[in-house]
Amino acid sequence: MTKYWAVTPTSALLADGAPIAELDTSGTPGFTGDKKAGTQLLAERSPVLSDLQEKLYANGRSGDRRSVLLVLQGMDTAGKGGIVRHVIGSVDPQGVDHAAFGVPSREERRHHYLWRIHKALPRAGQLGVFDRSHYEDVLVVRVHNMVPPTEWERRYDEINAFEHELVDEGTTLVKIAMFISLDEQKKRLAERLERPDKYWKFKPADIDERAFWPAYQEAYQAVLDRTSTDYAPWYVLPADHKWFARLAVTELLIAAFLRLKLDWPPALFDIAEQKRRLAQA
Ligand code: AMP
Ligand code: MG
Repeated sequence: MTKYWAVTPTSALLADGAPIAELDTSGTPGFTGDKKAGTQLLAERSPVLSDLQEKLYANGRSGDRRSVLLVLQGMDTAGKGGIVRHVIGSVDPQGVDHAAFGVPSREERRHHYLWRIHKALPRAGQLGVFDRSHYEDVLVVRVHNMVPPTEWERRYDEINAFEHELVDEGTTLVKIAMFISLDEQKKRLAERLERPDKYWKFKPADIDERAFWPAYQEAYQAVLDRTSTDYAPWYVLPADHKWFARLAVTELLIAAFLRLKLDWPPALFDIAEQKRRLAQA
């Protein structure tokens, strides 16, 4: 028997409007099972996501302009890469448009901050995945005063307008902010220093960033307060448990795909006639 775990939009992962300071990052809201049950459920739900994604892809090939865009935000080690590997990794890669946003290149810096975002938007029928996003331009940029406050201040409205346009053009946005505790981050950074297979993920600057944790919390709170809209709401995800984060993202994506009411595109040929032709070929 397949257990079904429903996620209701906006309120499932954190009471609407509750400050993130009150979030229990080790919680598993909406799910009462343990790691074993969660991992098992994920194995059952991944094929459901995969099937829905294939339907979107098939419709895209048949002229449907719609797409889905998963926006992942979170501090270093929050698990964004793991979501890409384990959740997105379970769907057909040809239907995925993936983009990771790091420190802007020299060319990117010469353009408006949304320039590189526009270039990476999912094509029709695709599942887009942003590992970091335009929100860095009101997070790291705000925390480190990379532009004057008057500049980042107007970006919230600008981002809302940009996202509204995207939604109008047929993109379903699934914005997920992953939160871990400061302690959990320390553990994960320590692991990166213990394991040769994780050295590549470690940057000495990640340790310096820990001093800015409260400033980041404040900047994240502003993002949630000012850019969670009815057309593109934020989901706040407690991410200390990787298995829970993966399950929750899978469910949120499934819910988003189901809202598209996708069906397999109809045959654009006479099936009986083609069967006859094939029999004789
Ligand atoms: P990672 O995700 O670990 O590869 O790190 C990417 C780094 O790029 C993070 O430290 C981000 O804060 C940084 N980054 C991403 N976007 C921007 C931006 N628009 N301006 C400055 N730094 C950024
Ligand atoms: Mg990093």
